[in-house]
Amino acid sequence: MTPFSTPLPPPAKRLVLFVADGMRADKFFEVSESGETNSPYLRNLSKQEQIMVYVSYIRDIIMNTGSWGVSHTRVPTESRPGHVAMIGGIYEDVSAVTKGWKENPVEFDSVFNESRYTWAWGSPDILPMFSKGNGKNVFIDTYTSAEEDFAGATPHSLDIWVFQKLEKFLDDAKVNGTLKMMLSQDKNILFLHLLGMDISGHSYKPGSQEYIKNMQVVDAGIQKCVSMIESFFENDGKTAYIFTADHGMTDWGSHGSGDMHETYTPLVAWGAGIRRPLGEGKDFYHDGLSEEWKLAQIKRVDVNQVDIAPLISTLIGIPFPVNSLGILPVEYLGTEWPHKALSLLTNARQILANYQRQMLQKKRKILYQYSSGDLRNCQLLVRPS
Ligand SMILES: [Zn+2]
Repeated sequence: MTPFSTPLPPPAKRLVLFVADGMRADKFFEVSESGETNSPYLRNLSKQEQIMVYVSYIRDIIMNTGSWGVSHTRVPTESRPGHVAMIGGIYEDVSAVTKGWKENPVEFDSVFNESRYTWAWGSPDILPMFSKGNGKNVFIDTYTSAEEDFAGATPHSLDIWVFQKLEKFLDDAKVNGTLKMMLSQDKNILFLHLLGMDISGHSYKPGSQEYIKNMQVVDAGIQKCVSMIESFFENDGKTAYIFTADHGMTDWGSHGSGDMHETYTPLVAWGAGIRRPLGEGKDFYHDGLSEEWKLAQIKRVDVNQVDIAPLISTLIGIPFPVNSLGILPVEYLGTEWPHKALSLLTNARQILANYQRQMLQKKRKILYQYSSGDLRNCQLLVRPS
């Protein structure tokens, strides 16, 4: 099938995707008495308006430089289907759960496949699924399963491992000509999979100090990564960033079903091609959440998890993944209207092509079923194309 990509120059040359495994939205956006002290990042607030938050860096992005909302996941709220939705734009066949989500029950295209190069760091349970059968343009680096098991007491150490790997990678690229050349090209993705939150949630529960501490490690780590990346690329204004999660976590430290705590995950985007914050007069979604998080004054845009895939494609100008059913969340884009309009049109054509192909497959199946019977019935059902 012809690849579908926006026929205009993309706003970003590269995209950095941070996925905090098991990070639920309400904890992430929560305003709390016991949160971090008043943040220097919340610079647009007057003294009376100052609030306590856990994640001051990302909160600053929401308020001053980026776009935000809730990414709604589907059940089963597990890591594999969550990641497949985000990077492939498809909701995987739930029967894959019987295989423990370990194997590829269905081959699927992804933004990693479509990128020029993707480098990824994180869990050995997750990353190999997305580099399988590829090997040409997706490079992964994982800690060992034993290291993952030993992280039980301090799950956030796994996230620190990932951040340190990125630091070393960028340091290496400064002296490694080949790597530097690869990084200087467009259509690249850096993917940081942060498993610490998931283990913190399972081991200590989302209401615990450990879960909050892990959130703060993630927040501070992302801040440092952004600073390193911007410095490496000499602030060229061509990096887009997305922060989200594959699924959430119940109060009792589990996930898999459709509880709101499991299906509501945070989505924050900023950098090249992303719209800056817009004022909002009211709680647009009427669910009280924006008010509760003291973010009702800033436009919130919720998405379905599969919509993240076309957003990534549009930002760096790569084809939409072949099977993607995601609808571009155009309100996240800060580009000129011709780019937005053509991106939406291309996305619509790509979904239509998907539909037409499925219809054709269905027709062939019907033809096969009827071919041993009355052929006239077949001709009524299937018009030769
Ligand atoms: Zn888990």
